[in-house]
Formats: sequence, structure tokens, C-alpha cells
Amino acid sequence: MLPIGVFLFLCEKIYVMRTRYIFITGGVISGLGKGIVTSSIGKMLQFRGFKVTACKIDPYINYDAGTLRPTEHGEVWVTEDGGEIDQDLGHYERFLDINIPKSHNITTGQVFYEVIKREREGKYLGQTVQPIPHVTDEIKRRIRRIAKESKADFVLVEIGGTVGDYENVLFLEAARQMRLEKEEVLYVHVAYLPIPKSLGEMKTKAVQHSVRELGRFGIQPDFIIGRASMPLDDVRKRKIALFCNVKEEDVISDPDIENIYKLPLIFEEERFGDKILSKFGLPPIKPRNEEWRRFIEKVESLKETVKIGIVGKYFDIGEFKLPDSYISVIEATKHAAWSSNRKPIIKWIDSKDFEEKRENLSILDEMDGIIVPGGFGKAGIEGKIAAIKYVREKKIPFLGLCLGLQLAVIEFARNVCGLKNANSSEFDPDTPHPVIDLLPEQKEVLKKSRYGATMRLGGQRVKIKPGTLAHRLYKKTEVIERFRHRYEINPKYVHLLESYGFVFSGMTPDEKIMQIGELPSHPFFIGSQFHPEFTSRVLKPNPLFKGFIEASIERNRKVRKGRR
Ligand code: GLN
Repeated sequence: MLPIGVFLFLCEKIYVMRTRYIFITGGVISGLGKGIVTSSIGKMLQFRGFKVTACKIDPYINYDAGTLRPTEHGEVWVTEDGGEIDQDLGHYERFLDINIPKSHNITTGQVFYEVIKREREGKYLGQTVQPIPHVTDEIKRRIRRIAKESKADFVLVEIGGTVGDYENVLFLEAARQMRLEKEEVLYVHVAYLPIPKSLGEMKTKAVQHSVRELGRFGIQPDFIIGRASMPLDDVRKRKIALFCNVKEEDVISDPDIENIYKLPLIFEEERFGDKILSKFGLPPIKPRNEEWRRFIEKVESLKETVKIGIVGKYFDIGEFKLPDSYISVIEATKHAAWSSNRKPIIKWIDSKDFEEKRENLSILDEMDGIIVPGGFGKAGIEGKIAAIKYVREKKIPFLGLCLGLQLAVIEFARNVCGLKNANSSEFDPDTPHPVIDLLPEQKEVLKKSRYGATMRLGGQRVKIKPGTLAHRLYKKTEVIERFRHRYEINPKYVHLLESYGFVFSGMTPDEKIMQIGELPSHPFFIGSQFHPEFTSRVLKPNPLFKGFIEASIERNRKVRKGRR
């Protein structure tokens, strides 16, 4: 018989699974793909049967990402519950196939706002309110709340930015305190190893410095992920181990890969999943990742392609192009193409090119399908409208996302219904035909100049009209999709547009707001007021994207046949 103490200890250790926390920090440079690392760790744990969730800490002072310019910070991700969040949350949802609520994004703005509010309410009882412990307590409270509400076995906490940034100091401090407070915590540090061209050798010094910097906050990483263009060799691993005080086997390679979804499998090759369990005192578990593995192998074997043009405007940042502004659109396109056994080739088309020269439009002929994604403000709009006219007339498959649908309506109103100078009141407040106009509740919001979290946001019901393309794709009469907009198709013009052949195949259940529009006279022309890219998952493409890719493949077949 086991003594009762030992028995209880074992229960606690083995059966009563407390939430375990894995903090992921970054070093040397930003943009290392910490979000992909976080998602991949989560995936490995899911493959072992655990319930996992993830949260992202963004050390900026903005309350959320809603007001950030896309070229500044990449795409704004919209959660089911209407949060406007950093794009990393999108990676978590896509990899882990779970809906993540907005409370899983913690920013400096939220934390300070809460602390100051409490201080004003007299909740600190005369104390001097200080970064430590009051701010760090608020950070920990938010992290623990995630654990409690999600009931996950593992909560992954990705700390944005890099160690050494002035702004993430308090978050690192909170992470350090959590282990001290007897939580089960692991620290994973992702750092970059450059291979300078002039040397031709992978250098570890920058990693050493960033780990030392982390040490200044009292955090000794349990694992170091070496992010580099190629896998780390034994020499590099040994060096990092020695200088950074970790075991060699706990230095894990994270090389450049063509397909980000392969990373969980690459990590498995280094037994990273079981190593994590072992550090938590748990026995190894065989990962059940056969389906994922088959999917990756299939993607790698694909030969035939489908060429999709994305006509956007948020590309340039200085001399560089930043497709990150459309990351979910890219990923959703990939998911759909892969599920139709095609390798996607994505072409960036800057709509401003069409404004300079209409002849540039002929590039669209080379595409199998065209996506016009979401966006705000006047820049590049006329170029996008010209592109939509072109694909409508040339019968090239078209998928419009939010702004893309609004512009398709403007184009149709102008060129088919004959409404000269029809426009959205967003771009031309004096247009004689505001076919796109502010949602009624948004008029009040804008009058008060309130911009943060004030759009029509998050998951909303969409009623789908039977017998339409939308219905054939969704195979349902109601779906939930995610929205982020201020403007809508002006109800006053709906009849007129319909009388010329535009079909509104999706709307709010009360039929007041039009949410999907399509052209039955075209092989595939559909646009949605929502963003279907936010509900696409790796193994479950969104039906609109899937249908669009199928139509694009069909066009590719026809064009090739015609050429023969
Ligand atoms: N600017 C448009 C609106 O606010 C479209 C928004 C979007 O594409 N997300 O309605």
C-alpha cells in the first residue's frame, strides 16, 4: 500500500493536470516567425491529445491592433468575438483549428488602462501604484484568466518583440515571477543566427547576447530555438549550449522552410514534443500526426499550379514589399489550392499600376483568378475598380473580400446600371450615387471621432439564399463569418442593382444588410462583406475560397486547351 501522502502527490503529479505555461520570447531580430514556433509547439501538444490554447502579448501602447496601419504591423486579425488583433492569433487559429477569443491578446495599453482605472476607483487602498508589483500582477492575472477560462492543459504565451526592447520588460518580469510562484512554466527563446555572405559561416554570437539579455531579467531559457536559413549543425548547437547554459539537446533547429505547416514535423525530428513533456515531468507520448504528415507530403508532391493575382494596395514599406498585410488571404488561398491538389502561385498586383496605365490591366489575363482584398481609404481604389471591370468582362474568376465586394458593386453600378460617378461615400462624400454608404450606427460613431473597436466587428450570422452560387458553395442556409467594416451596400440601390442582374445571395437574418453579392452571368464572380479568410483552416478551407480556386483551375484548363 502506498502511503496516502505519496498517493496524493502522484495524483497531483499525474492525474490532476494543472495548466502549464510555455512562454515564447524572441531575440536578435523581430519577424522571426515566433508565431509559427508557438503554433507548432501547440500542434505537437495537440498531437499528443492535450488541450492547448495560445495568447499573444503585444507590448505596444495601442489598446488593440484595430487602428494600426497594415503596412506598419501587417494584417489586423479579427476574432470570432470581435477583437482586432495581431496577425499571430491568426496563425494560432489556423494551426490549432480552434477559435481564440480577444482576451488572448494582451497589450501594454490594456494593462495600464486597467491599472489606472483601478487606481482611480480607489482599489489600491492608498498604496503607491508601481510597475512592480501592480502592473506585473495585472499581466499575470490576465494570463491566469486565460488558463482558467480555456481550461487548457497548456497555455502558450508569446511575448512580442525582442528581448532587450524597452517595452517588454514588465512582461518578461511577469513571466519570471510565474515560475517563482510555483506555476509550471517553461521558457522557450527563439533567436536568429545570421550567415553573413562575406563569412559564409553561421554565427552564434547574437544568440549568446540575446540569451544573456534574457538572463538580466532572471529568465534562463529551457529551450533555445535557433532560427536560421538552414538547420544548425552540431558545432553551433554545442557552442550555444555551452555559452547559453542549456543542454545541447535542448537547442532546436528552426530552418527556413517552404511550407510553414511543416514546422511541427521538423520539431518532432528533434523530439522537441517529448522533450517539452519531460521538462514538465510528464512521460513521452507518441504523437498522432498521421493526417498532418500525409497532408504535408501531398503538398510537397504537388506539380500542377493555379495562379492567383491579389490586387491590393498595402504592399510597399520603403523599398520593400510587405505581403504580410494580406497574410490570411494568402494562407486561405493556399489551404484551398492544396485541398484541390494545386500548388498556388500568388502574384502581387499593385492596383496603383492600373491607375497610371490602363494597358497594365492585361497582366490579369495571365492569372487563373483574381482576388480583391479588404482595405480602407481612397488610395488605389480606381485601379481596383478598373481591374474588377476587366475580370468581369473577360470572365476571369473573381473573389472580392469586404472592400472587394463594395468595389464590385460600384463598378457594376457605374458600368452596367449606368449610374455615372457612383461611389462609396468613404471615397467621395459628394457622389451623386452613394451605392456604398455608412452603416447607420457608424454615422454616430464617426461624428464622435471614435475609431478604436467601433466597426461592425466579429462573427455575425449570414443568411444564404437557396439556389445561388453562395448556397452551392456553403451547402447551408446560414453561416457565421467574421466582419470588419463601417460601410455597407446602400439598401436604396439594392433593387436597381438586382434588376440589372446582380444577385445578393447572403444577408443579415433580418435581410437588412447585404452580405454576399454575385453575378450569375459570370463563370465565378462573388464577393462578401465579411472576410472568409479568417475562418479558413489548414485542413478545412473556407467554401468561398475553395469554390474560387476550383473555378480558377477550370479557367486554367480551358485557357491551356485553347492554346493547344
Ligand atoms: N473600408 C470599407 C469599410 O469600412 C471596407 C473595409 C474592409 O475591407 N475590411 O466598410
